[in-house]
Amino acid sequence: MKISRISAFQVDLPLREGSYCWSGGKSVDVFDSTVVRVETDEGLVGHGEVCPLGPSYLPAYGSGARTGIGELAPHLLGADPTQLACLNDTMDRALKGHPYVKSAIDIACWDLLGQHCGQPVCHLLGGRYGEDFTLYRAISQEAPDAMASRVATYREEGYRRFQLKVGGDPEIDIERIGAVAALLQPGDKLIADANTGWLPHEAARVVRAVRDIDVYIEQPCLSYDECLSIRRRTDHPFVLDESIDGIDMLLRGHADCAMDIVNLKISKLGGLTKTALARDICQQMGIAMTLEDSWGGDIVTAAIAHLAHSTRPEFLFTATDFNSYVTVDLARGAPQRNAGRLAATTAPGLGVQPYDEVLGKPLVEIS
Ligand code: MG
Repeated sequence: MKISRISAFQVDLPLREGSYCWSGGKSVDVFDSTVVRVETDEGLVGHGEVCPLGPSYLPAYGSGARTGIGELAPHLLGADPTQLACLNDTMDRALKGHPYVKSAIDIACWDLLGQHCGQPVCHLLGGRYGEDFTLYRAISQEAPDAMASRVATYREEGYRRFQLKVGGDPEIDIERIGAVAALLQPGDKLIADANTGWLPHEAARVVRAVRDIDVYIEQPCLSYDECLSIRRRTDHPFVLDESIDGIDMLLRGHADCAMDIVNLKISKLGGLTKTALARDICQQMGIAMTLEDSWGGDIVTAAIAHLAHSTRPEFLFTATDFNSYVTVDLARGAPQRNAGRLAATTAPGLGVQPYDEVLGKPLVEIS
């Protein structure tokens, strides 16, 4: 089987809540998502998606994804999409860096491999553990009482894990964590995710002030070394996210005992192939994971579901169902949250079929 055409489509994904706000006053109302279609000479068609969290979160942005796909596509025509390691090697030799550009293409080729084998992607990634897996809900940064109110609502919808967007004024962040912690019940988990937003002296104040609250601290500061300094002066369970952008940083973090949990985002690492490698290393090293992406719609949610469902349950801290955060349905067959939990679909490949009317005309088409 050979790749005969690669197309990229732009889709706006407005947020159900209106906007999503996190550290440093950053905010997004409508996400700029890119869907990739990979067609083959045997008639099979695979789909992938990449959706940066706006242009100022990670080094990634929507039109950059589409430009990069146009740059890579000519190098991939004629390649076998089911040979994922060879395909990734070709992408890495043709374009240095830019993992998010490669992510949607890699996901589309996993979709093709699954269809070719007649197996859901989660089987090819190791197998399906149990019936479903647990999700977390990200709570956009607002006033403490507003965030507590959101948590109460999402708790009623079945979520039991809540990731608060902090990383603002430390005194208000301390209030945010306290207000939400007061609502929680046994079995709930609370994560305070600063998304790199605190300076070390601010992070030090927050972790000391919430010392007696059962809360996970995620990526308090911008650099790895700053985060490590906070890690070494707190006994809260500790999550690294933005700093862990590849296998090198994962191994360094493990060697330094810098985290208990890592947040692996599919596009941050460059696709399902590379994220599955990081996932398998974490399972060997005893590091639990949040498995997700920077953002996305139905196709990203399907990819997350296959990765999460094929992860040993004791290592899966939590995962995300981005398609329930946005108002646009991209594809039929996508997994849907049920009582705070999600399951990968059982159809071959990713199990999703994008709606042509939502995709519109391709902005990139190489054949
Ligand atoms: Mg995070």
